[in-house]
Amino acid sequence: MTAGIFSDEHAMLRKSIRVFVEKEVAPHVRAWEDAGQIPRTFWRRLGALGFLGLEFPTEYGGGGGDFLSSVVLGEEMARCRSGGVAFSVLVHTDMSSPWLTRFGTDAQKRKYLPRIISGESVCALAITEPGTGSDMAALATRAERRSDDYVLTGSKMFITNGVYGDLYFVAARTGPGSPERRHDGLSMFLVERGLPGFTVSRKLDKMGMRASDTAELAFVECPVPAANLLGTEGRGFQQLAEGLQRERLMAAVLALSGAAQALEDTIAYLRERTAFGEPLAARQALRHRVADLATELEAARQLVYRAATLYAAGEECVTEVSMAKLFATEVANHVAYDAVQMHGGYGYMREFPVEGFFRDVRLWTIASGTSEVMREIITKRLL
Ligand SMILES: Cc1cc2nc3c(=O)[nH]c(=O)nc-3n(C[C@H](O)[C@H](O)[C@H](O)COP(=O)(O)OP(=O)(O)OC[C@H]3O[C@@H](n4cnc5c(N)ncnc54)[C@H](O)[C@@H]3O)c2cc1C
Repeated sequence: MTAGIFSDEHAMLRKSIRVFVEKEVAPHVRAWEDAGQIPRTFWRRLGALGFLGLEFPTEYGGGGGDFLSSVVLGEEMARCRSGGVAFSVLVHTDMSSPWLTRFGTDAQKRKYLPRIISGESVCALAITEPGTGSDMAALATRAERRSDDYVLTGSKMFITNGVYGDLYFVAARTGPGSPERRHDGLSMFLVERGLPGFTVSRKLDKMGMRASDTAELAFVECPVPAANLLGTEGRGFQQLAEGLQRERLMAAVLALSGAAQALEDTIAYLRERTAFGEPLAARQALRHRVADLATELEAARQLVYRAATLYAAGEECVTEVSMAKLFATEVANHVAYDAVQMHGGYGYMREFPVEGFFRDVRLWTIASGTSEVMREIITKRLL
């Protein structure tokens, strides 16, 4: 994907990530999908190349780049043909650690950012719980202040990078909400692996995104140093709401770039495969379907780029981000369905990447805010 929103620097960055993905990622994704895990060496390599700190301040070892650099990273990682690899990386770079630069103290940044940027510490975001996902105000994990600690008790569900992660951005309740303001009383914490009372209770088995590890986490009287409160006590929901715009944009970027790759793979297949004496690419029914999919993708891309541009400029863009997330992830699923169909039986075989994309992309109308939740957000701003 390229368009007028990107500069020459972005184009250079894109080129270097694309070469890296082709040479050092794509050849291994099948093994990582089978293992359900990405090797630690991969994280360190990403760190060494500077890809884990594109936007972070240079004083901590980051690249000091802008938000569109992260969009480039998302688009190019999604081309590796493993949704799980791209998802894991973007959870680290965009869906968790940016909260640290946005809300962290200097001491927290000095302590954690260098290891996040180098790939020594892999990050996870832990909001969802077994009993609630979309309804964040219903979070039940408690954090009780006791002298120099907050003591966490509760569990978290579906946490990406949760099994093998090192640093968890955890949302917990520090105070009660009220019937009028249910979202009050939530706070965010930086929780390191290895704290007493913090365990990975399960590695979850799932339909797609298989290279990314997904965990259920348990906190039983887990003492988190008070210095690891992230941002303001009781303002966690507001902080989360702000960060979720970035997460949703990145979900849209990953879904869309993966879909563009799947369409490219499908076009190549249609050219190669013959039926009834000519390439499938000669069949008007299939040609028109390709035209429709390419048009839908382009419409979604423009919506995503518009929202990304607004977000990068620091403008209020909740409606645009929600529309972009809704439309792009639904379009990507449509592309996946048709891409498998146009591959015929081979589309159902694991050796063909569209099979994996079909499973991976199913996540994107669910995670980072479901399509129904996106519609609720959009409607609330219209009605
Ligand atoms: C593979 C995977 C990775 C994930 N990674 C993470 C992660 O790293 N960190 C994290 O915190 N979470 C993560 N999640 C959780 C994800 O964000 C949630 O699954 C998602 O927000 C939906 O919440 P839920 O599963 O509780 O569904 P529910 O909220 O129970 O929703 C169930 C259904 O009801 C619909 N619904 C809910 N409310 C409404 C409403 N008001 N109006 C209409 N329909 C509604 C939903 O759209 C959905 O269709 C992950 C999930 C998966 C599957």
